[in-house]
Amino acid sequence: MATPPVYQNLIGGKFVDSASGRTFENRNPADTREIIGIFQDSDERDVQAAVEAAKRAYRHWRLVPAPKRGEILFKAAQLLVERKEQYARDMTREMGKVLKETRGDVQEAIDMCFFMAGEGRRLYGQTTPSEMPNKFQMSVRQPIGVCGLITPWNFPMAIPSWKILPALIVGNTVVIKPASDTPLSVYNLVQCLLDAGIPDGVVNIVTGSGSRVGEPLIRHPDVQVISFTGSTEIGSKVARVGAEGMKHVSLEMGGKNPMIVMDDANLDLVVDGAIWGAFGTTGQRCTATSRLIAHRAIVGELTERLADRAERLKIGNGLDETVEMGPIINQSQLETVQRYVEIGKSERARLVVGGQALRDGDYAYGFFHQPTIFADVQRTMRIAQEEIFGPVLSIITVDSLEEAIDVANDVPYGLSSAIYTRDVNAAFRAMRDLYTGIVYVNAPTIGAEIHLPFGGTKGTGNGHREGGIQVLDVFSEWKSIYIDFSGTLQRAQIDTYQVGMDE
Ligand code: NAP
Repeated sequence: MATPPVYQNLIGGKFVDSASGRTFENRNPADTREIIGIFQDSDERDVQAAVEAAKRAYRHWRLVPAPKRGEILFKAAQLLVERKEQYARDMTREMGKVLKETRGDVQEAIDMCFFMAGEGRRLYGQTTPSEMPNKFQMSVRQPIGVCGLITPWNFPMAIPSWKILPALIVGNTVVIKPASDTPLSVYNLVQCLLDAGIPDGVVNIVTGSGSRVGEPLIRHPDVQVISFTGSTEIGSKVARVGAEGMKHVSLEMGGKNPMIVMDDANLDLVVDGAIWGAFGTTGQRCTATSRLIAHRAIVGELTERLADRAERLKIGNGLDETVEMGPIINQSQLETVQRYVEIGKSERARLVVGGQALRDGDYAYGFFHQPTIFADVQRTMRIAQEEIFGPVLSIITVDSLEEAIDVANDVPYGLSSAIYTRDVNAAFRAMRDLYTGIVYVNAPTIGAEIHLPFGGTKGTGNGHREGGIQVLDVFSEWKSIYIDFSGTLQRAQIDTYQVGMDE
């Protein structure tokens, strides 16, 4: 096999080795014999250097006019378009999901890049009339400083783009620590920014483990903003550190997303949606459909049809265009899935299809698992409550819309939800009462677009949103400005108001 490429940290516009000189390998989860690249196994010293570089670059970048910043992002978007196919292939090799999906992942970064480029000519503030004569007032967005970004492996380019691009358009500089399983896609994204003319130090990359790079990054006193996407377990740790340091912290974490299927639903549509929602990205989406809450009248037929489709899904290396489901990201995640299958069985849910890891033939060097469906799942079971993050769907039977909504909301997460029905009243009640950040009607729990806010309630997030213009709130602060052009010292507003009324 060819010698794998070596990727260095990007600090202050230069590619450099880690301070320790240590590296780690990034391997293909569909065939672990393939090494995608060698990356720097960094530590606190590299984080320190990257934050210093970002701090220096901030002095200039914040003063670059926002439309000019937007032009760089626009150019980067065009480069991403040109390189889309190559980057999608790189991503399938490092992350495993099928090409159709990795093309979608790169496309999301493209969309975000164009969207944020446009924001460079908007970044709307606010003006209001003053209570006093000859006075003008407005509020404008201000950048905050150095942002520490920590990203997961399941959307290796899209999620980094949701963070890097809004941070930059407002005038911040960034240090990103990509997931150790998928750093290459972050390099690809950042290479487009570099080629588009982003100044040295505005974007820095430090690779390495969560404990040796992630922790020092979030603790660093010069990092003012932390944007984290990952598990709820690590996210709550990040929240505690952020609170101590009085930092802006945005958290996007786990999900246990329900799809409600009412007795009047179009079952053809449901089967397509549930298979795509549950087994797309091998179930490794924060928005994956992991609970199907079905009305008793149709649950039998639906379960049979789903099992039939799941059984026929073609599993394999995502570079093969005919493959429908790729591998799981790594050995540890595969073991988690296997553990939950055993938990489901021991809880006496009915295993309808799947349940096994695949190890023979072409599967021997990857982390493959069958699409798995459990029926007769009770709402309190662990497989109905905990995020598995793999190709496992739990079917829960209900008797009414009220019960369905109650079951749907009865988990510690609140990212995405869906309802399939032809009854407009039922759809509106679900839209109102499902306590999740995203609701779909007659579509699965996945499929968000970047120009609407993305994020969740309860254990999924801490109230912030990515996507939409709402993401700008994570990376900016409001400054209110009052300009008195009366030429006199105007008195306190209550007096002035009364004077005005008396006149
Ligand atoms: P994870 O284990 O929490 O890791 C996420 C990131 O945090 C990785 O870059 C990881 O580095 C880093 N990290 C680990 N320990 C850390 C620490 N002590 N301090 C700072 N950073 C640390 O999550 P994951 O397994 O990559 O991703 C799966 C999870 O992400 C799921 O729960 C999924 O639902 C969630 N997710 C949520 C959204 C959303 O928008 N709500 C989107 C996608 C994924 P290493 O890679 O080096 O360990």
